[in-house]
Parts: sequence; C-alpha cells; structure tokens
Amino acid sequence: MNKYLEQLVELSKYDMQISSFEPQIKAQKTKLEEFSKDALSLKAEINKLEADIKETKSKKAKHDVHLGELKDKLADISKKGIVVQTEKEIKALQLEEEIAKEQISFSNEEIERLDKLQDNKNEALKEAIAKLSEEEESIKELENKIEESISTISTQRNDISHKRGELVEKIDAKILTFYEKVKRWAKTTAVVPVRKQACYGCYMKIGDKTYAEVIKSEEIVTCPHCGRILYKEVEITE
Ligand SMILES: [Zn+2]
Repeated sequence: MNKYLEQLVELSKYDMQISSFEPQIKAQKTKLEEFSKDALSLKAEINKLEADIKETKSKKAKHDVHLGELKDKLADISKKGIVVQTEKEIKALQLEEEIAKEQISFSNEEIERLDKLQDNKNEALKEAIAKLSEEEESIKELENKIEESISTISTQRNDISHKRGELVEKIDAKILTFYEKVKRWAKTTAVVPVRKQACYGCYMKIGDKTYAEVIKSEEIVTCPHCGRILYKEVEITE
C-alpha cells in the first residue's frame, strides 16, 4: 500500500477510536442517572408514606379524644338519669345516650380501620426503605465501576491522542489537509475499505477502473459517488 494511504488509514482509525470514547463515558453516566432516578422516586414514595402514617396517627388521636369526651358524656347522662322525672326528660336523655353510643361505635370502627391502614402503610414503608438501601448499594457499586472505567478510557484516549499526534507530524501537509476536508463531513468514515467492489462509506458499487486503482493503491483514490478515501484491506488469513 502507498505510504500516504497507509498513514491515512491509521489516522482514520485513531480518529474513530478517539470519537468512540465520549459516547462510552456518556453511556456510563446515563446508566448511573437511571439508577439515581429510581432512588429518587423511592425517596419520594417513602416521604409520602411517612406523611400518610403521620396523618393516620393524628386522625386516630382525634378519635381517641372524641371517645374520651363521649365516655364522659355517657357518665354524665347516667348521673342525670337518677334525677330526671318527667317522661319527656327521660326520652330526651335516652335519645342523647343513643346518639353518644352510636358516635362511640363509629369512632371505634374508624380507629380499627385506621389501624389496618397504618399497618399496611408501615409494611409498605419497610419495603420501600429496604429497596432504597439496595438501590443505594448498587449505585455505590456502579459509581466505583464507572470511575474505574472512565479512568481506563481516559488513559486509552491519552495514549491514542499521543500516537495520533506523532503520526500527524509525519504526514505530508497536503495529504493531511485533504483528509481533514473529507473528515469535515464524513466524520469517522473519511477513509473506508472497499469490500465486494463497493465503497463501505456509501455502500455503492464502484466501477472497474476505480476498483483497479484502489487495488493497485499507488495513489489516493476517492469514491466516485461520495468522495471518501478508499483502500483495499489486506486479506487476513487465519
Ligand atoms: Zn462512497
């Protein structure tokens, strides 16, 4: 292969590697963000459950106070029962007693219902707290892994950038300018192989004459369809 072309193939490979590092780091960070989102929604769920439990407790306390009042009232009514005389007074007192008893049983039912509700919420809260601690554990693990992986990627990137720099110094200025021009639009596919007589940038078949030039590889050949720099891969025999 022509020396210039060989350099461009190498340069393009470095550029492709360099451009692959950023998405790799981004993918890792996205993963962490997903985990953190889950943890956040668990925290919100826990807050909501705690607020619900608090509210249930305060409702129960109100019923307890009311029950106390009703019991006092009943005691009062039975005291009055000793002193009332007329039929009308007795009836009025009986009605009052009935109402108080109904209110007592209503409050007792409510307390029972709230107790059950509180038990359920407590159970859900316990589960959410356990899940959150699991989630936080995985986040910590993931953070460590990501930190390690990012440091590995950075080392690789520095290494590749260094090699690229050394290569660029050796490349003919005109050839380099031409490569940069193609790269401006073709990004990481400025230099592509020809496979089955087709350009591997635009996937169009190339004519026999151009193909023969690519195989000879005496000079830099570009795809007649898209303009990418073409090369014939060295056959690798296993
Ligand atoms: Zn092409």
